[in-house]
Amino acid sequence: MATAVLPHAQTLPAEVELHRIPAHLADQFTALMERADQAISLYEIRPLHAQAAQVIGLQLPDSQDIALCTCTCLCDRVFDANLARTHLDGTVERVQCPVCADEHRLTGDE
Ligand SMILES: [Zn+2]
Ligand SMILES: [Zn+2]
Repeated sequence: MATAVLPHAQTLPAEVELHRIPAHLADQFTALMERADQAISLYEIRPLHAQAAQVIGLQLPDSQDIALCTCTCLCDRVFDANLARTHLDGTVERVQCPVCADEHRLTGDE
């Protein structure tokens, strides 16, 4: 069977920076991600991440798992969680996106 090409299919970005999208959408995104953080099973987390990605116009990655950069440089990039680099800042787990990790990799020992 041939792969159907959808006439209205758009190529969505693989990364979205929250400060570049309307604040009400960023708020909806944050609320969904907070719910996902509190969810226990992947069955709950996956649909929340999918919905969150849709809200901000992000292409859902193959991993179906998205992460928000919580780097100290105030980056707010949302990206494929498979590419996340994490470290402990005291007892807080911080997430760096690939861009931050390349430019200023943190280990928590600074
Ligand atoms: Zn970042
Ligand atoms: Zn950064």
